[in-house]
Amino acid sequence: MSSPPQIVCACGRAVRAPDVLQHGYFMTRWRPVWVYLKYRCPRCRMLGQKLTDYRDWDESALHSGDESCVVDAARAVLGEIADREVEEFSVRLRALRPSDLDALRRDL
Ligand SMILES: [Zn+2]
Repeated sequence: MSSPPQIVCACGRAVRAPDVLQHGYFMTRWRPVWVYLKYRCPRCRMLGQKLTDYRDWDESALHSGDESCVVDAARAVLGEIADREVEEFSVRLRALRPSDLDALRRDL
């Protein structure tokens, strides 16, 4: 069984049902031809729009691969973030050099 095609934000995150602000259909006389979605990405906070051919539309794409379950599972394994971890991250962040950011940009 193949999963339905996903709607993906420009930042790469898949759009999910809770992100959808507006959802509508462009109709011909009797049947929908286009599906319109307007969404706000929870990762990059950008507004996005998507127009999809109704024949290709599958509402389950908004519900597949529920990331919140993945995040919850990861959180259960890793546990809460400790104060010590926050402190270490802060020290590393302050020690960043421009060359580190260039290396990071190349990796992305
Ligand atoms: Zn995004």
